[in-house]
Amino acid sequence: KASGRGCYSIFGPHMDALVRERAEIERDLRDALSDYSQFEVLYQPKYFAATGAIGSVEALVRWHHPTRGLISPAYFIPIAEEAGLIRELGRFVLKEACRAAAAWPIANVAVNISAVQLRDEGFAMEVMAVLAATGLAPQKLEIEVTETAWMDSFDSCVANIRALRAAGICIALDDFGTGFSTFGRLHETEVDHIKIDKMFVEGLGKNRGDEAIIQAIVELARAKGLKTTAEGVETEEQNAFLTQIGCDELQGFLFAKPMRRADVADLLSKTGWK
Ligand code: C2E
Ligand code: CA
Ligand code: CA
Ligand code: CA
Repeated sequence: KASGRGCYSIFGPHMDALVRERAEIERDLRDALSDYSQFEVLYQPKYFAATGAIGSVEALVRWHHPTRGLISPAYFIPIAEEAGLIRELGRFVLKEACRAAAAWPIANVAVNISAVQLRDEGFAMEVMAVLAATGLAPQKLEIEVTETAWMDSFDSCVANIRALRAAGICIALDDFGTGFSTFGRLHETEVDHIKIDKMFVEGLGKNRGDEAIIQAIVELARAKGLKTTAEGVETEEQNAFLTQIGCDELQGFLFAKPMRRADVADLLSKTGWK
């Protein structure tokens, strides 16, 4: 055992701990999905740049782990995808979000959908069933997808997207510009919005390249008749630049952080209620 064979140095104590942690997280995730009580859906508003009104609110899932505390979705969503648990988790978030939005007199709700879900043949039907069950109009639902989703199973993804759009649901291409979403194989007529990743927004004022990229994305979108949303807006300078170049919607900590459902209702009653 202690002979120091090559494979032991690669899969040494550190690697072993990582593998064990990964297995524990997967097991705990499976357990947590038996009653969903450890999951919470927070909502982050997106504002129309031109009017300052809230156009929609993005659902972002949180996992309150009993011993590890709050775990980021950036960490556990990929694990859920690999472990075959994302359908269940995704269905929970979709139901929660639609139920919440059905009680808001204005503002759409945007839900992040994993590539794995979008590939399922019955996905569009499932969404329609959730809308029917919660009483939310399809026009009030937006679905955010990344282009990674389209690479492996382009045909089934497009079939789902077309069915959803035919029903009146908006599709946003998320993380645009990061290399995963670039109109590679996707035809621009299949989506309604593009969402500029916060990576570029972060570079505004620091990196001239990012200014040029964002400007190019907004111009491209306008030429194709698509709306643009910028995420991760944290400063007044970023806000001013994005508004000036004609970005349609803005989202970020400058305006609002992800918040509880009850706080969204309060906020809507103060600002966007008509
Ligand atoms: P995303 O869809 O690109 O969401 C944007 C992330 O940026 C969110 O992180 C949000 O809280 C954060 N953010 C918003 N404004 C700011 C800002 O001004 N500054 C900074 N630094 N960050 C900001 P979060 O909630 O941790 O989610 C991370 C990722 O996890 C999301 O990225 C999304 O890909 C995924 N995710 C979250 N909820 C779900 C879900 O229900 N289903 C699926 N499939 N994925 C989800
Ligand atoms: Ca178990
Ligand atoms: Ca998103
Ligand atoms: Ca992003």
